[in-house]
Amino acid sequence: ITLENKTKGKLQKQICQVALDHFEKQYATELGEAWASVRDVLTYPSCWQYAILLNKFSPSAELENTLHVKGYHPAFPGSLPYLPASFKCYIRRTPGRFPAQKHQAGKLKEYYLLNAASLLPVLALEVKDGEDVLDLCAAPGGKSVATLQCAYPGQFHCNEYDDLRSRWLKQTIESFIPDPLINLIMVSKLDGRQIGDLKPELYDKVLVDAPCSNDRSWLFSSDIQQATLRLIQRKELPSLQFQLLRSAIKALRPGGSLVYSTCTLSKAENSNVINLILNSCSNVMPVDISEMAKAVSQEFTFLGGMQQHELLVLPEKGRAWGPMYVAKLKKM
Ligand code: SAM
Repeated sequence: ITLENKTKGKLQKQICQVALDHFEKQYATELGEAWASVRDVLTYPSCWQYAILLNKFSPSAELENTLHVKGYHPAFPGSLPYLPASFKCYIRRTPGRFPAQKHQAGKLKEYYLLNAASLLPVLALEVKDGEDVLDLCAAPGGKSVATLQCAYPGQFHCNEYDDLRSRWLKQTIESFIPDPLINLIMVSKLDGRQIGDLKPELYDKVLVDAPCSNDRSWLFSSDIQQATLRLIQRKELPSLQFQLLRSAIKALRPGGSLVYSTCTLSKAENSNVINLILNSCSNVMPVDISEMAKAVSQEFTFLGGMQQHELLVLPEKGRAWGPMYVAKLKKM
């Protein structure tokens, strides 16, 4: 049973045995030998790492100096030719968390803390200036903010179905994006499964950062009931993910592309969902992202044996990023 314990005056997370047993069975089969080291990272929060994505709309030389002094280095130095110099993300090999920045009315935040692997779906989407972009499942907004560090879209539609999370998304956007750019952003609260019918063939790029089993946080479910319920609901996720993808494909213009991502290791929610889409939608083709994976392979560990249109980031000590699955598809 998981409970949060007070140790040395700090809240310490405890592993939920029900979730761990479930993962153990599934992932030992799916990941083979790689699972043992992934499990060691996931179950040991004191080796977790956090990346710092700088906000180009609120640059701070002082912050960059502090990061250098603390041993941080840029995560993607020159590895991706299409990344603008203004896109800056700092990481370091040692675990620990840089303090989060408090919300201050009327002042843009200087940085966003995130799992560095969360940037890979955004980088794979390759948004260019002027393109119309849909972020289908956008809250709390990390990938929306990252997208706007890469390019100035024509229209940027950020959607989130959940009421509370949608308000969180709005707050993130307001904290990072200045006037007048913020006026290009439309925030909606729709069921992503319906957007394809509501906005057919409207977007050049769609990000489907799908609701999924969040392996990292599920391992620390607060009690046995919560974990059991999550594991039951887990079975329904592939169907929801498939429907979100179908909707995203409808929302794409012919020639447009989409990126699908999850933060689970589960094959049922990753490759299986993408394979089902490829087998059932004749207007969709896989897009090779192996060059991108190669370009960032110094900082990320990937599961071997994946197809060229997909990757799975495996957390490893010193490179504790992921889990993150990314796949890219193009509409013909
Ligand atoms: N992209 C976000 C980021 O980078 O900060 C994280 C997105 S999270 C993995 C998935 C989100 O999908 C959740 O906020 C969840 O509430 C939302 N969601 C769940 N069902 C949805 C649906 N039918 N349509 C749209 N969003 C949905």
